[in-house]
Amino acid sequence: MKSPTFNDCFATSGARMTVAEALARFSGMLVPMAGTEEVATRAAARRLLAEDIVSARQIPPHDNAAVDGFAVIFDDLDPEAPTTLGIDGTVAAGHPLGRSAERGNAYKIFTGAPVPDGADTIFMVEDCEVSGGRVTLPDGIKRGANLRRAGEDVRAGDVVMRRGTLLRPQEIGMAASLGLERLPVYRRLGVAVFSTGDEVRDPGETLDDGSIYDINRYTLLSLLDGLGCAPTDLGIFKDEADVIRRGLADAAADHDVVITSGGVSMGEEDHIRGAVEDLGSLFFWNLAIKPGRPIALGCIPGGGGEVPFIGLPGNPVASMVTFMQIARPILLRLAGAENLAAASYRVPSAFDFKKKSGRREWLRARLEAQADGTLAAVKFPEEGSGILTSMVQSDGLVVLDEACEAVQAGELVEFVPFNEVLR
Ligand code: AMP
Ligand code: MG
Repeated sequence: MKSPTFNDCFATSGARMTVAEALARFSGMLVPMAGTEEVATRAAARRLLAEDIVSARQIPPHDNAAVDGFAVIFDDLDPEAPTTLGIDGTVAAGHPLGRSAERGNAYKIFTGAPVPDGADTIFMVEDCEVSGGRVTLPDGIKRGANLRRAGEDVRAGDVVMRRGTLLRPQEIGMAASLGLERLPVYRRLGVAVFSTGDEVRDPGETLDDGSIYDINRYTLLSLLDGLGCAPTDLGIFKDEADVIRRGLADAAADHDVVITSGGVSMGEEDHIRGAVEDLGSLFFWNLAIKPGRPIALGCIPGGGGEVPFIGLPGNPVASMVTFMQIARPILLRLAGAENLAAASYRVPSAFDFKKKSGRREWLRARLEAQADGTLAAVKFPEEGSGILTSMVQSDGLVVLDEACEAVQAGELVEFVPFNEVLR
């Protein structure tokens, strides 16, 4: 099932647009397009939940012991002196007593064992003295101590997980805790990826004069793996209008989304924008950002309807950063995710920096512990958007918004760790 995802009201002149304007334009209009399927709970990690999960039962299912020790009826205890009670039975995990607790008795109990009806307080075994079938218990315990209540984790009818949640190990455990063998998830988004450029070669090929190895396809395919998409590697396309146009049309025929890198600028060898305009519609391409301008967004008619197209810049750092900042939220929304925001943290800057206002900049930085143990952002010295080492040696991006004109050492800046955006 495909739904219309983009709309003509995106269409813009070539005027520069801020990231917020660009994201606002499409945020309300992108809908999950990937369809749903059921998978075994064990196989659902890192997938996106396609329905709310409502618990049919309470967890834990029964009152149970939080410690090894003795279960008693609190009202049998002397509040001011130790109490000695007879031991009337033993309850182990998976082996309920099968009868109620009786007044004046204690029950040996192990962690996780169901508390016999009537008992309401549990002593830790370390605090108890056992002799000749009786146990002596200290005074001063609180009613209900060391007891885990039925339903204290989840009540029947609780919505325990929401549609659009990324299933982490703890959600997989929760599903198992509810007894769910299978989970409804969104299908993986099928994303076609190709590189453009007469100079671009694959590792394994020889580098002739003026050629370079393809970085972007490798980075982007890995990023898509990490996002839980199903990427298809379409290789490298020559800088020829026909080749690019045919490549885009073929890619759109059997994928949910098409992503390319390179060929989006104004040069004579840049054919992406023209091809997208010929085939479908180009919505915008001129964002007020650094690194990364230009980036093209549009749609191309495909097998099941309009196929979103994202044309990333050719410079490797620019293509990676714009993927993280712009393609990632689009892809997550199309894939069914509800939470698109990447967590960011405010950390002190360890550098001075001057910036043009009116555009958003992302600086590559690493976090370094200062003398007092707190972290500060240290900017990578080179800013070129072709310097991939800057990504390899950084921990994340410092985000400087449009209004910012300078940063001074010690000032708090917004820092997005790579591990929040590169799963
Ligand atoms: P373009 O946007 O096609 O003009 O490319 C901008 C710069 O990025 C040029 O220096 C290209 O050689 C380089 N570039 C483009 N595609 C890739 C790629 N897939 N891997 C590495 N560098 C690339
Ligand atoms: Mg090129």
